[in-house]
Amino acid sequence: MLPSVNRRNFLKTSAITISSLQPTLMKAKNPKITVAQNPSNQKSRLKTGSSGGIFIHPWDITDEGIDNCYDFLGDHCGLNEIRAAAIYHACTFLLPHNPKRMVRWDEGSAFFIPQHPRWRETRIRPVVGTCVDTPGYMHRIVDKARKRNWGMIFFTVFHFNHSMARAYPETCMVDVMGERHGSYLCPANPDVRSHDLAVVEELMDTYGGDGIRYEHLGYGGLNWWSFTLNKIEVPPSPRDKFLLDLCFCASCCHRALMQNIDVYSFRRNVKDHLYHSLPKLPAEWDKGKVDEEWCQNAFGGKLWEYMEMRFNTVTSLFWSVQEIVNRFGGGLMPFRVPYELKKNRFGQSFMNKIDYSKFYPYLKRVGVNPLGKTKDAQQRSLVKQVSQVPEWSEPETMHIQHQYNSKEPLLEKIKMSRNAGIRHHFFHYYGQSRREQLKWIGEGREAWA
Ligand SMILES: [Zn+2]
Repeated sequence: MLPSVNRRNFLKTSAITISSLQPTLMKAKNPKITVAQNPSNQKSRLKTGSSGGIFIHPWDITDEGIDNCYDFLGDHCGLNEIRAAAIYHACTFLLPHNPKRMVRWDEGSAFFIPQHPRWRETRIRPVVGTCVDTPGYMHRIVDKARKRNWGMIFFTVFHFNHSMARAYPETCMVDVMGERHGSYLCPANPDVRSHDLAVVEELMDTYGGDGIRYEHLGYGGLNWWSFTLNKIEVPPSPRDKFLLDLCFCASCCHRALMQNIDVYSFRRNVKDHLYHSLPKLPAEWDKGKVDEEWCQNAFGGKLWEYMEMRFNTVTSLFWSVQEIVNRFGGGLMPFRVPYELKKNRFGQSFMNKIDYSKFYPYLKRVGVNPLGKTKDAQQRSLVKQVSQVPEWSEPETMHIQHQYNSKEPLLEKIKMSRNAGIRHHFFHYYGQSRREQLKWIGEGREAWA
């Protein structure tokens, strides 16, 4: 187990966070910043009891016309919760029922214009997407949903962002070789942290979000998220991959020094190791697993100390985000649940350890997902997972309607989930589904009625 975050280190980490919030008086790089006249200013009202939601990109809504799109979602799908992308990563989208363009390229952007006073405290600001054509773009999307008494959860991708990496390369991760990452911002960087917190405050305060569904709020790495098509013909051994993913940017090094880690000699050792190891033929590689035993002993224990620094870095960032969401009474929703959020300190991912036990008491919804090959096994697994949801939280489940060629298996899965006691259902991307598939959703609406 990693040692717990001790008070001395935690105070130092907090001091870095606080100092990062001081006004820098630097001019924002994004020339498109303007302020909307009529902020939505509604407080969180996350639905309890039941809900039917869908992931949707803002252009899906505005290309059809907000009223047309919402009429369809209400009348044909029977839904009452929007999970709108607020910031999304670079992608090419095929949109089979979009009236304006069936193929959309997006380089990774935000779909709202920064206007909250908190942005005065930040040096970097989101790169606003091309679909945002008026200052009130996101306001109209939110306000028209609220008029129908629908929920509004913001799906937000934080650090995996090619546009931000291009606009602010100095905030990106830097590997042990000194190469700067081209698409991943570092969670240790004070500007990145201030940006993350301003995004959350904006979505919760200006837009009155019910919650934040987050993705990529921790560290990334060369082998995880890069340009879309890599030329890594022979992937390195798992341990070398792990070492290549470590960040040694100035902010990470600074945090390590604050924890009395001799980061420069550690970095030199890792670099020497990789220069020795990577040119070898795969047959000569160390094929051992990346596990706690290796991590504790590698480089004379220095790797483990460095992982503690990362653990503190990510946990304190998540905690600052959680505090904002709590202040507005909303929910912070992880990308993968519930396994990441079991009542222990570590999640699934060895690279992105955080102290999940800190966040457990604030769970509002917990995702469950049928496991097993037979229907009986899946039903049993759902019932078991529902029984593990803490009493202050409610289970929810996702259905991927565009995976199905007919409505029966989708409706069967919805019914199975309902029978297991799940009343919060949500569906995968609206714009990437066919009309027929979206209409099938409405036939299952009793499950969340
Ligand atoms: Zn870093």
